[in-house]
Amino acid sequence: MQNFSYHTHTLFSDGRNAAEEMLEQAVKCGLAEVGFSEHLVVHKNFKQSPSWSKLQAYHGAHIYRTDFAEAAEAFANYKAKIEKLKKSYPLKIFVGAEVDFFTYDGWLEEFKNFRKQTNLDYYITGNHFLFPENCEYPIDADELTKHIPNPSQQKDFLRRHFLTIKKAAASGLFDFVAHIDYMRRVPGCNDESFMPEKEQLLQTLAKNNIPAELSTKGLRKDGHYYPAPILLQKMHMLNIPILISDDAHRTSELCRNFADAERLLQSLEYKNRWKLNKF
Ligand SMILES: [Zn+2]
Ligand SMILES: [Zn+2]
Repeated sequence: MQNFSYHTHTLFSDGRNAAEEMLEQAVKCGLAEVGFSEHLVVHKNFKQSPSWSKLQAYHGAHIYRTDFAEAAEAFANYKAKIEKLKKSYPLKIFVGAEVDFFTYDGWLEEFKNFRKQTNLDYYITGNHFLFPENCEYPIDADELTKHIPNPSQQKDFLRRHFLTIKKAAASGLFDFVAHIDYMRRVPGCNDESFMPEKEQLLQTLAKNNIPAELSTKGLRKDGHYYPAPILLQKMHMLNIPILISDDAHRTSELCRNFADAERLLQSLEYKNRWKLNKF
């Protein structure tokens, strides 16, 4: 069975447990490697977002930042803290980031600078926001219909979302892609919708050999994995590398349903499994 988990969160972002507690649990689960993929969500105009007040009520509100320099400092300190823990636990520990990819002018350069400054072990692209064409402000996925009442505009936002993940994957800046159909939570976006855009995204993953998750978080949210079966089949057909993730935000979620996910991959004969090749 897969003995690592690279998609986890601690109190540093919006997790509910400290890194030490997650590591103790990881040892109990028999993991050999753990990666902390804390949220990096930086948008220069966050405060102008119609979702800003909702975001401020979230227990992890501190993850929503307007300034890359501040984020880099926080992540560098966090990385140093985790480095110190390494010798106390009998497993490999990595520090990474789950990054919301934005497309406004200047964002990419700032992100590249962030990477240089922090030198984290790995990066995941995980997109939780929708935005207009020029990306002038982000909207919380669960508020799309509230703030963008026009259905055809809603479709534009969602189409753009899948093409944004595609762009992130093609950038070569990410080690793998998180929950590719996270947006199925939005009314008007189900397993079958936006298939041309999803296919384009999968083609890009295949062409660039970028892995994607089979995330058990979907089971906790709406009863099936991210990605939905139809996308998982397509991923398999395209021979996209895959890894199982839990997206654990608390100790009890670490490795949750890994045995089920393992059985699913075996039943599909999905053999192209991926892991971080570091150290
Ligand atoms: Zn996520
Ligand atoms: Zn996550």
